[in-house]
Amino acid sequence: MLNKLIVAAMPLVPRPIIRKISRRYIAGDLLADAIAATQQMHRDEGAWTTIDVLGEFVDNRERAVREKSESGKVLDAIDQHGLRGIANLSIKPTSLGLGLDEDFAFENVRELALKAREYGLFMRIDMENSPYTDKTLRLYRRLRDEGVDNIGIVLQAMLHRCEQDVRDHLEYRPSIRLCKGIYREPRSLAWTGREEVRDSYKRLLRLILGNGLYCGIATHDDPLLDDARQVIKAEGLKPDQYEFQMLLGVKDTTRRAILKDGHHLRVYVPFGEDWYGYSTRRLKENPAMAGMIAKAVLLRQ
Ligand SMILES: Cc1cc2nc3c(=O)[nH]c(=O)nc-3n(C[C@H](O)[C@H](O)[C@H](O)COP(=O)(O)OP(=O)(O)OC[C@H]3O[C@@H](n4cnc5c(N)ncnc54)[C@H](O)[C@@H]3O)c2cc1C
Repeated sequence: MLNKLIVAAMPLVPRPIIRKISRRYIAGDLLADAIAATQQMHRDEGAWTTIDVLGEFVDNRERAVREKSESGKVLDAIDQHGLRGIANLSIKPTSLGLGLDEDFAFENVRELALKAREYGLFMRIDMENSPYTDKTLRLYRRLRDEGVDNIGIVLQAMLHRCEQDVRDHLEYRPSIRLCKGIYREPRSLAWTGREEVRDSYKRLLRLILGNGLYCGIATHDDPLLDDARQVIKAEGLKPDQYEFQMLLGVKDTTRRAILKDGHHLRVYVPFGEDWYGYSTRRLKENPAMAGMIAKAVLLRQ
């Protein structure tokens, strides 16, 4: 209840407070921070990362071109620091103009995918809210139809359409990151109950892995992690057929335990100055969020 109130009041919370308490979710302002986080997590834990330049829903072309150039620099840095096989790139299509013009966004995504391919790197196309689902999947298929195959998609288990999306893309043998989905969606499109979303996730995981597709199992939810371990065992999967994925700053102990058990695990490492949208989404998912904000506000006065 308190959490719900605070979520509703989030826009009123001063930005410096949001910034302070969400710092754990973001590597820093600079690309060098994301590279350092990657190097540290790989050295200390054997984790892999996917690096994301913060930014989304851009409303002009100049900005989208700038975002493309920033993501291009991530690819350069991964190569220069010898992090191939350890780090890759995640992109948000609306930061590359998907909300402005689909063809324009396609050209931007394509340029990045080709650059990644030259370096021998993989690029994940994040999934945003439902107005962009079809457009994002179309970008993916257009690229695959051109023979670009160092790319993967994200599917959101909360959406009713997700199972059909898996089936519709089977012929592409896509690499799929499976997550619950973070965006608020209408009831007509999405399951909203906690258990309904979990059940959907479990069904989809079986569908994806059962069809021999590579899956990024992106969740911090213990029952889903336990279920995934069971499926992996039951299907006799090798560690190169899937990876766990978690967000920077979330459930560090669980992350280390998964790695210790011999699974691959990739951490989503966002960096940059456009931190507000991403940070508030993460805070809303943190069960301790209400207390953290209340404490931060009180200590400030
Ligand atoms: C690598 C990765 C990439 C993702 N990419 C996308 C994407 O492209 N599109 C999209 O819509 N969504 C994406 N997501 C977000 C995802 O959809 C969920 O919103 C998010 O992972 C939380 O769901 P959960 O499965 O962890 O379950 P939850 O029930 O939300 O969380 C399970 C438990 O994890 C802990 N936890 C979760 N979040 C936090 C937090 N922020 N702070 C502290 N503790 C927390 C809590 O203990 C919570 O009880 C991604 C997630 C990951 C891990």
